Amino acid sequence: FEISNAVNLFTNSEELLKFILSHAIEILQAERGSIMLLDDQTDELVIKVATGGRYRAISSNPIKLGAGVCGKVAFEGIGIICNEGFKDSRFKNFGSIMPVEDINSLICAPLKFKEGTIGVINIVNKKNNQLFNKNDLSLLTLIGSQAAVTIENNKLYELSITDGMTHLFVHRYFQARLSEELLRARRYGLNLSLIMIDIDNFKKFNDTYGHQTGDLVIQKVASTIKDTVRTAIDIPCRYGGEEMCIILPETKSEEAFLTAERVRKNIASLSVNHSSGVLHITVSIGVASYPLHAKDRETLIKASDKAMYDSKQAGKNQTTIASELS
Ligand code: GH3
Ligand code: MG
Ligand code: MG
Repeated sequence: FEISNAVNLFTNSEELLKFILSHAIEILQAERGSIMLLDDQTDELVIKVATGGRYRAISSNPIKLGAGVCGKVAFEGIGIICNEGFKDSRFKNFGSIMPVEDINSLICAPLKFKEGTIGVINIVNKKNNQLFNKNDLSLLTLIGSQAAVTIENNKLYELSITDGMTHLFVHRYFQARLSEELLRARRYGLNLSLIMIDIDNFKKFNDTYGHQTGDLVIQKVASTIKDTVRTAIDIPCRYGGEEMCIILPETKSEEAFLTAERVRKNIASLSVNHSSGVLHITVSIGVASYPLHAKDRETLIKASDKAMYDSKQAGKNQTTIASELS
């Protein structure tokens, strides 16, 4: 129940996997474990998370379908109990820097979704020198199917809120999150800022260097924005076209201005290589905050957009804070 419910708790897939894994280890009364997912491009298993004991996912040489215990489970879609641990003839050491000699018992189940297998879950060393039994395998297989549905749901959700070109959040998510963050700000008496960013003279990039270079410029700007803001706090989105924006929860306009200026300077110092030479990009930025410049979502977006437009009017490559409500 908790594993199927976990999709509502985590939007970050690594945390979701860790949650699923730690629950499986606990239920099976084991020492440690790992989750490997199948890369659909290469058909190889890649360790995504490993927890428990002193075990870490240090070495992650991808594992071919069919190779070793986990490869066999992924290939055949049927779980395996391996109470001989590393001595089992099916067991292979995939060049892990961690010793494998302390793997005394191992149980591995497929993560099945619809007709396919999307990965495997490995559970290592049943506690108190016990051996894994058929019931453990049934239970782990059940957890595996439930986990697979949860993982796939989460993947679809992440895809649906992420812009394919920039990997920023999409416009629809931006609107929803801004409403949600505004509600929270209102309820707890917090500040909230919105930064609106528009690339300067972007039409010229497209006209002079072609749309592909234009797209590359947009991607560079987006990744610079992502690298400059606070991860897991600020919400960088693609507003549309070459316009991007950032929601900054619990942030006053003076603080948002500093972030905006860091973004602007980082973008101005980028060099984009092109056959005809090195290209430079600048952006114009507008900052508006709740409750100083606007009380609701629409007005806040308008205020940041107007401030951005004022930056354009004043000569571009600068940041303007919205004017206060009278
Ligand atoms: P300004 O400095 O006033 O912002 O001038 P500008 O040329 O950047 O003007 P504007 O912001 O209105 O230009 C937006 C242009 O961006 C128009 C459109 O052709 C282009 N564009 C929008 N989305 C994309 C995209 O995804 N890829 C590419 N290559 N171009 C895009
Ligand atoms: Mg524009
Ligand atoms: Mg522009």
